[in-house]
Parts: sequence; structure tokens; C-alpha cells
Amino acid sequence: MVEVSHLTKRYGSHTAVSDLSFTIEKGQIYGFLGPNGAGKSTTMNIMTGCLAASAGEVKIGGFDIFEQEMQAKKLIGYLPEQPPLYLDRTPREYLRFVGQVKGLEKEALETQIRHVMTVTQISDVADRLIKNLSKGYKQRVGIAQALLGDPEVIILDEPTVGLDPRQIIEIRDLIKSLGKDHTVILSSHILSEVQAVCQTILIISKGKLVACDTPENLEKQFVSSSTITLTTEASRQETEEILAGLDHITGFTMVENEKGWLDVTLETDSGDGDALCRELSVAFARAQRAVMEIAAARASLEDIFLELTESAPEEPGKEESSQ
Ligand code: ADP
Ligand code: MG
Repeated sequence: MVEVSHLTKRYGSHTAVSDLSFTIEKGQIYGFLGPNGAGKSTTMNIMTGCLAASAGEVKIGGFDIFEQEMQAKKLIGYLPEQPPLYLDRTPREYLRFVGQVKGLEKEALETQIRHVMTVTQISDVADRLIKNLSKGYKQRVGIAQALLGDPEVIILDEPTVGLDPRQIIEIRDLIKSLGKDHTVILSSHILSEVQAVCQTILIISKGKLVACDTPENLEKQFVSSSTITLTTEASRQETEEILAGLDHITGFTMVENEKGWLDVTLETDSGDGDALCRELSVAFARAQRAVMEIAAARASLEDIFLELTESAPEEPGKEESSQ
């Protein structure tokens, strides 16, 4: 549905997006995940034809966003990070204006407006001034304008930034329901958000795509370590001897606890912590030393995200996008 090939965007000498390629299939919710400054908004602005690329190609439903702008744009609805809401108008007036810009008129326009207001649940506030609406409702109005014209692909840039927890849940539910009839691409710098809503995650860091897969596969693919904690009655020396006979242990620390037992934390290079727990308890038993407690903790998706986007520089010049 959307094909991005070798997309690059330079601002002067700074490369914001670097040789980015990915494909978006029809009918799924995709999450564009990356820390602030990763290049998410730049990519979305280019994909929607709002910004020119320095190099590369974007195709929407087979239409080139630069060469066949009209056909391509008809297939996309876009909610930018800072949507141009007309504060002194009502949602109904604003939607009528956007609908006309999108080429809708008369009965078709009014039908569309009623439809998107129902979907985004803003009918009750349709005739109040936008400036008097809560942030959550303003965001719904922004989503409503993206839906006008019933585009196949809905692109939402940080749709829940600045909302309170209840509004976040409501907007997430709305996005999930949009995913039933549309291809949705949303961006976020928060992993849990993308995990809660999206079937596929694209992780971007410093303008480059560093991973693209389902949350489950990302975990399988990248989790290659686990940490094991155990408590034993064995002495330090006995413990060191037992550990020396085992593979996959890359480091350990030992602390004596208040019962005189040893709390041991093991770093391993195995993603299969359960198998290692088994080997460890057998090894201690063979040495006739009891293990009181043992547990393995796998690296989480959060760890993967932090590792993949590690050392992305803080941006002194750039505002927090939540403002
Ligand atoms: P994100 O949306 O992931 O936070 P952006 O796409 O907004 O990231 O920004 C990517 C990089 O491009 C950042 O380093 C940002 O400072 C830079 N950038 C964005 N817009 C401009 C611009 N108009 N002029 C110069 N640099 C920009
Ligand atoms: Mg952004």
C-alpha cells in the first residue's frame, strides 16, 4: 500500500532521514517508534507530500507522491504533529473547509462530515468553537479531518502527545477501531503506546530504520541475553567453582544476605534463561548445595528499544514534542 525506497532528507549539512526503505501492507496498524529527533515527523511529512525529499521515492497505492500527487494524496489522511486547527471556527465549519479542499461538495460533503463526526464522537461539540474544546476533543477533530474523503491510509504523527491518561486510552481505542477499515501508521516515542496499538513496529533511530517486525518477533530476534538471580547456601568459593563448569555465564556478582546465604546475580549470553536455571540447579545439587530461589529475567522489548536507539544525541535546540 505504501512503499518508501531509499528516502533521504538533508537539512543543510544535517541528515535527518538516511536511506530509509520500508513497505506498509494494507489493513494493519503500523507504529513508527523512535526517540525525539529520530526523523519520524520528517518521514511522515515526506510520505504525505508536505515536504520534498532530498532523494528517494514514496509510492502510495502505486502512485508516486511527487509525480502523481493528486492520485496519491487522495489515498492518505494525515494528522500532523502540529495540526493547523482553526481555533475561531467550529468543528463543523472546519471540517466543511477541509472537505472542500479535498474536493468534496454538496450532499457528499455533508454525508462525509456526519460520518467522520460519528466515528470520532465529536457530534456533541460540532458547533462549539474549537478553541474552547479540551485537548482530547481537539485531537479528535484533527483525526476527523484526516478521515474526510475516506482515504485508505491514515497517518497520525504522535496522536496522543499532551493528552491525559483517560484521553490517551480513548484516542488509542479510536485508532484501533480505525484499523478495522484502514491502514494506519502512527508515530510515537513511547514503546508501550506502539505495543498497545500496533501489529508491526518500525524502530527508527537517527534517521535510519533499525528494526521492523511484530512485537513478538522483535523479542525473539533481539533477546539474546537474560539475567538470572539465585540464592544458595553454598559459599563464595563453592559457587565460583560450580559456575566455572557452566557455559553462557558472562559475569556475576555475589552478596551475602541477612540469613547468611549468598544472593548471586548472573549475566548470561543466552536468551533461554529457563534452560540455564535448570542447569544451575542441577549443578548446585550435584555439589550437594541447596538453591533456595532461582529466577530468570529476559530482556524486554523496552531493553531492545533502548539498545537499538542508544546514544541518540539529546537535542538542545529542539523542543519536547509534547508541548
Ligand atoms: P522526530 O519527529 O522523530 O522527533 P524530526 O523528523 O522532527 O524527528 O526531526 C529529525 C531531525 O531533523 C532532528 O535532528 C531535527 O532537529 C531535524 N529537523 C527537523 N526539521 C528541521 C528543519 N525544518 N530544519 C532543520 N532541521 C530540522
Ligand atoms: Mg516528531
